[in-house]
Amino acid sequence: MLKPSILLTPVAIAAAAMLFSKAAFAVSHDPESIQNKALKDVVAFEITEGLTTEVGQRQAGTEAEARARDWSVKKLKALGFQNVRNEPFMMPTWVRGAETAEVTVPYPQKFHVTALGNSASTGDAGIEAEVVYFDSLAAMQAAPDGSLKGKIAFVTHNMHRAQDGSGYGAFGPVRWNGPGIASEKGAAAYVIKSIGTDSHRNPHTGNMNFPEGVKPIPAGALSLPDADNLERIMKLAEKSKMPVAMKLVLTPQNIGEQESGNIIAEVTGRDPSKGMILIACHLDSWDLATGAFDDAAGCGIVTAAAKQIMDHGKPLRTIRILWAGAEEVGLWGGKAYAKAHTGSKHVIAMESDFGADNIWRVEFNLPDGAETVQKQIAQALLPLGIGSSGPPATGGADVSNIIASNNLAVIDLQQDGTRYFDLHHTPDDTLDKIDPKQMRQNVAAWTTVLSVIANSDIDFTMPSRK
Ligand code: ZN
Ligand code: ZN
Repeated sequence: MLKPSILLTPVAIAAAAMLFSKAAFAVSHDPESIQNKALKDVVAFEITEGLTTEVGQRQAGTEAEARARDWSVKKLKALGFQNVRNEPFMMPTWVRGAETAEVTVPYPQKFHVTALGNSASTGDAGIEAEVVYFDSLAAMQAAPDGSLKGKIAFVTHNMHRAQDGSGYGAFGPVRWNGPGIASEKGAAAYVIKSIGTDSHRNPHTGNMNFPEGVKPIPAGALSLPDADNLERIMKLAEKSKMPVAMKLVLTPQNIGEQESGNIIAEVTGRDPSKGMILIACHLDSWDLATGAFDDAAGCGIVTAAAKQIMDHGKPLRTIRILWAGAEEVGLWGGKAYAKAHTGSKHVIAMESDFGADNIWRVEFNLPDGAETVQKQIAQALLPLGIGSSGPPATGGADVSNIIASNNLAVIDLQQDGTRYFDLHHTPDDTLDKIDPKQMRQNVAAWTTVLSVIANSDIDFTMPSRK
């Protein structure tokens, strides 16, 4: 053991201190050691559990989402983040009412249905009408104008599970665009096979919009097994030339402009001139469940990673956390954020909004000159089983507006979406579906990426902004 009184002159002490601080820095920002520590994270699950238990469902613009924001501000302050705040904005708000569906002719039976966001109301008495069946959105599009007058259009689809969730992009338009197309062709109402991949009697809700000038009509999603049953009924009835009729009751309401808000927290960096890294999720959920997968988990993951970085000492760049207040019912949170913060210097945007299962691939959209950093990240993610092939990163819904307005660099950590659309927007999106081990892998991957980009002094400005 050293005897300080004999061996350490002031010069030696200064040199030792320098050595020590360099060593400490090297250790504190070494992605690998940070990664190992992050694999023991408990904060991501704690946030997900808190939001789903102490708040519950939290549809944007409602009193529940306001409670979620209060909870979030308290939680983020308690975790030690800086500049924690709620940035309120107003948004048009739609709320669910009664919802029932039954075939009345020729084989009377009840189905499980849920209204799609922005659906019109059938009125309390409901609508009973003949059902017209299409096996794809394209088939309904090809139907002659006026041919659906007074009828209920029913469109099914063929979505399958996929690790990259690509079925959603392929079949999502049945929900997003179908109601408007049905209305333009004169339909009285529109029902779909839920955009999902499960086989439970849980209908999947989700947002849709009627194009400007198109009359809103009632629009609902049947659970997948019920939709399969309706398909069989339609095929049997067609053979025997019998009409099929359905009674639909959906009584949602537009309750006008209501307050939502974005929650922001920061890990302030050592050098503000280096710009901020924006990491996002959305705080709101659909009203059918507690939104554990979509997207309490995302908020838990990005925040836990930022905390890991914070706990290792101040990073070079500021990391800003955005819990967007409204995503499900329209990108109101992301739009309000971009409007308020376009002038701030952001350098990279990232988002987590695809559940909490293992990350399997990293994607980049970085400027020339960032190749070394990109390689370093790809290398550092290998121990977590994450590859780096794939298309350029595009970012998530809540950061899409600020990426577009500020032309930001993006890194995407793609989660395994194989079971995501079993749960998405259903009453089954609850805490028990989160696998804590996979969630910790997410936190470790996010922490790894943040530790590199928040401490690199590379200029991440995309070419057209220079
Ligand atoms: Zn989401
Ligand atoms: Zn969603």
